[in-house]
Amino acid sequence: MNRQAINGEARRLHYEIWHKRKLLFPMGEPSSIAMCSPDVAARVLDVQYEYRDNLGRFRAGQAFYEVAGILNRDRGIISVSTRFHQAAIRFTGAHEIGHFLLHPGEVFHRDRPVSNDHAEKRPPREQEADYFAACFLASEKLVTQEFEPRFGRGPLHLTDTVAYHLRKERMQELLRAPTGSLEFAAAVAGARVFAGKGFMSLAERFGVSIPAMAIRLQELGLVGD
Ligand SMILES: [Zn+2]
Repeated sequence: MNRQAINGEARRLHYEIWHKRKLLFPMGEPSSIAMCSPDVAARVLDVQYEYRDNLGRFRAGQAFYEVAGILNRDRGIISVSTRFHQAAIRFTGAHEIGHFLLHPGEVFHRDRPVSNDHAEKRPPREQEADYFAACFLASEKLVTQEFEPRFGRGPLHLTDTVAYHLRKERMQELLRAPTGSLEFAAAVAGARVFAGKGFMSLAERFGVSIPAMAIRLQELGLVGD
């Protein structure tokens, strides 16, 4: 499944949430970012969404992994383990929603926590569900809207001045990072101050990890080299 089609599925889900917002939030509408939440998506899709303090472990090769999320399609339940950081829980939930929408053949699916290490080595379906989660939690429109007041119109390029604004005396660390690495994008994703202005970081604003936000900023072309 290509990326454009996956993004289209995430956008369709946004639209459905927006369309049903009066029903979903009778006490008042939250922000657009808060609306893009996996538990809200589950309600729209008529799937039960539950938090559990332990989902057990599973074996992959020689190693055992703590289960972070389960999609049980027959029972119509997505279970998410609360043993991880808030950002990981949110991303796992959105990843399971991705399997639910993109992979009808996945009847019972267990996931370990999504890690951005070796992301490109994950099986294609896992990469698809990850990409769906990124598109759903951090849409192009909302990320761009939040990016511009912090950093100006993208793409933001790594110059001496930008490196200084992000890292001050430690600016050389950024300038020395290998081309193509996530370092600069991660510095932008996690920045709480830029050019003397303080703000909530983009990663915090969207409730995702710094590496996940960094990848998203690269995908959207908001950070350059
Ligand atoms: Zn998965």
